[in-house]
Amino acid sequence: MQQPKKILITGGGYGGLKVALGLQRKYQGNAEITLISKHDYHYQTTLLHKVAIGTLSARKARIYYRKVLDLNKVCFIKDKIKQISPKENKVIGNGGEYSYDILVIALGFKPNNFGVKGVDKYAYKLSSLNAALKIDKNIENKFKEFVHTKNPNDLQIIVCGTGFTGIEFAAELATQLDELCLICGIDRNIPKVTCIGRSKHILPVFSSALAKSAESKLKNLGVEILSSADIKEIKEGEVVIESNGVSSSVYGNTIIWSAGVKGSEIVEHSSIPNKNGRICVDAQLQCKDFDNIYVVGDCAIAADKDAIHAPTAQLAAQMGDYVAELLCAKLEGKDFTKPFKFNHRGTVCSIGHTDGVGIVYHKNVKGEIAAFMKNTIENKWLYSIGGLNMVFKKGQFRYRTSN
Ligand SMILES: Cc1cc2nc3c(=O)[nH]c(=O)nc-3n(C[C@H](O)[C@H](O)[C@H](O)COP(=O)(O)OP(=O)(O)OC[C@H]3O[C@@H](n4cnc5c(N)ncnc54)[C@H](O)[C@@H]3O)c2cc1C
Repeated sequence: MQQPKKILITGGGYGGLKVALGLQRKYQGNAEITLISKHDYHYQTTLLHKVAIGTLSARKARIYYRKVLDLNKVCFIKDKIKQISPKENKVIGNGGEYSYDILVIALGFKPNNFGVKGVDKYAYKLSSLNAALKIDKNIENKFKEFVHTKNPNDLQIIVCGTGFTGIEFAAELATQLDELCLICGIDRNIPKVTCIGRSKHILPVFSSALAKSAESKLKNLGVEILSSADIKEIKEGEVVIESNGVSSSVYGNTIIWSAGVKGSEIVEHSSIPNKNGRICVDAQLQCKDFDNIYVVGDCAIAADKDAIHAPTAQLAAQMGDYVAELLCAKLEGKDFTKPFKFNHRGTVCSIGHTDGVGIVYHKNVKGEIAAFMKNTIENKWLYSIGGLNMVFKKGQFRYRTSN
């Protein structure tokens, strides 16, 4: 009798979890399906800015894999992958070695420091749930201790990067400053949030009209924006920038680095050809050098009509759905020729809990509608992994945060 095929999915983020759930729902055969991830819970990366400000609790953010997986169909192993050995068809983790017939790489992203000195030493990164919790603790401590330290730089927060991550974080923080100051007995005029970005406008993925609208919303919240500024170095409590050939420094004791991401470092250091931890895949998301490896999410470079898709949760989830469908067909011995096609439904950047800007189905949205759409996107993801129950337990609603 033929041995059951071993399907190994590494990484339980938007891409990997979708592969596991898709196989769980559709596949009826006897293949051994295993999901390995370094934590035993999934979290919405798209909501990390809320965790970092404390408006979303860690308890609400954690979605335990064993609660959403049917463990009779998918085995879950909590382990941190250290190495992928594609020639030996195995993956090595802290807890042991895992062999596979088919591997799905879904290990996600890593912040990119772009070689800027001091980033890794002096800046916080919004890269995981634990990293977000550290930021929350740090800001809270700095505000609570201010009564003793009296150091105004403890209340200056610098956000490096004016893309989605940086802007959502800065806005969430700015909307909470009144409350933080009240709780800690601080004069509201002392704390300041400064965003530094290289591009002329914030949120360069949007039209300049939409970006300007977001900019004015942030300014109304008291956020200072330094555009067209190159970050040269980060020192303790200082960000050195250059703008129009002039060098200057911005001072603040909390520095957040959100200037961009690259693919997983496990992929980057593997023998699979990659660019910055991202693997070029074909139209079926198959690795070009190893045909038993599929790559989804931020570790994949997928192109449609020569346009490379920007890595997003939306893309990762659609890739996950596609690979689940493809594997299901292949495991059942059916032909599967359909290529992966990304359906870009839109993007929304939240500005606090009740405001935002974005594009949804090619239409610009702003204000409460944008905030509503952002919540809908988050809740739709929850629905796709755990149904209505999950939405009610973990969802984002207009008048309900964990604050
Ligand atoms: C702060 C922030 C905000 C964002 N906001 C948006 C947004 O609003 N909209 C949007 O579309 N996109 C957004 N993105 C991008 C989006 O989060 C990513 O594109 C998406 O998470 C990619 O999905 P993925 O499955 O490739 O990786 P991830 O979701 O990162 O999942 C990777 C998984 O692999 C696991 N893993 C990593 N390394 C190992 C290892 N060595 N061993 C075992 N397991 C490992 C991780 O724990 C995780 O479970 C945001 C990103 C960030 C950082």
